[in-house]
Amino acid sequence: MNALMTHRPDFFDALSHIAGNLAAHAPLAPLSWFRAGGPAELLYRPESRTELSACLAALPAGVPVCVIGAGSNLLVREGGVPGLVVHLGAEFAAIEVLPGNRIRVGAGAMDVKLAVAARDAAIAGFEFLRGIPGMLGGAVKMNAGAYGGEISDIFVSASGIDRQGNSIQFGPAEADFSYRHSAIPDDVILTDIVLQGVPGDTDRISARLAEVAAARADAQPVNQRTGGSTFRNPPADLAGGRKAWELIDAAGCRGLRLGRAMVSEKHCNFLINTGGATADELEALGELVRERVKADSGIDLVWEIRRIGLPAGQSRGAK
Ligand SMILES: Cc1cc2nc3c(=O)[nH]c(=O)nc-3n(C[C@H](O)[C@H](O)[C@H](O)COP(=O)(O)OP(=O)(O)OC[C@H]3O[C@@H](n4cnc5c(N)ncnc54)[C@H](O)[C@@H]3O)c2cc1C
Repeated sequence: MNALMTHRPDFFDALSHIAGNLAAHAPLAPLSWFRAGGPAELLYRPESRTELSACLAALPAGVPVCVIGAGSNLLVREGGVPGLVVHLGAEFAAIEVLPGNRIRVGAGAMDVKLAVAARDAAIAGFEFLRGIPGMLGGAVKMNAGAYGGEISDIFVSASGIDRQGNSIQFGPAEADFSYRHSAIPDDVILTDIVLQGVPGDTDRISARLAEVAAARADAQPVNQRTGGSTFRNPPADLAGGRKAWELIDAAGCRGLRLGRAMVSEKHCNFLINTGGATADELEALGELVRERVKADSGIDLVWEIRRIGLPAGQSRGAK
């Protein structure tokens, strides 16, 4: 048995007084869209910001912290994730309409629910979120975008909790968004976000939501075990305007298989777990695609999917 699976982490006692749900060696595969990968050394589901802050303040220095949302842009490696993994749940999913076409949303709310709530409040500008299957915390961290919109277009501010348990605020300057990227540090856990829309017509917004949903179902393998776009689109001047999927297609990788991992036939920048694929297989297939694209076009594709944890056999405490 994997050593990470056999005993409590040595920092567990420091958190014994902490409220919220703590589970040692909790499997993360069920929390990831790929349904693959190893466990968290300690998984924490806080029920409030106060609990989360107290937990981080009590966590010994040096223990790594990582947060996951809907797991739709994540590959959890087989050796599991050392330290504390925080997963925000329904307690962080409130959506509140504010004056001036603004919405305050919890980082644990699903993007799709926010798109619908904005429609119900006749606020336009949130429709692109209908096409993204994550939560708002992950959307801000990744500057998620689709169909002509992205988070940075509607972002006002975000609040979070830092590694020491202190509150921390981000405006557009601190978030410093770029393509599928923000400058929000990896160990900050966002809890609340304020976004700005414009006045809209609910029928028109409904029609746009339907268009986005249809376009997504048409172009992406939405009902399969995937992690969304695997690689970032390269800068236009480097790749002559070609997107990542075009480079992958030209390198002959559409439908490429490695074990039970496969490059989607429908959208070749998506990797698919065809059933029982390990995270190692999925990552190795991604690396094979990178090699072939490099050989074909000279371009180094950069992973967009966030890969976390240790490779198989390198679990903390493994002999
Ligand atoms: C079928 C499919 C289609 C997709 N289409 C798109 C698309 O069109 N456009 C697009 O941009 N993306 C797309 N994605 C990728 C993904 O949905 C987005 O990146 C999404 O915003 C990730 O949110 P998440 O909650 O799933 O984050 P996760 O995958 O759980 O995490 C992603 C990153 O965000 C961080 N994070 C998560 N929550 C928080 C938080 N509360 N505070 C701080 N950091 C946090 C994590 O640590 C990690 O670094 C798609 C994915 C799938 C599976």
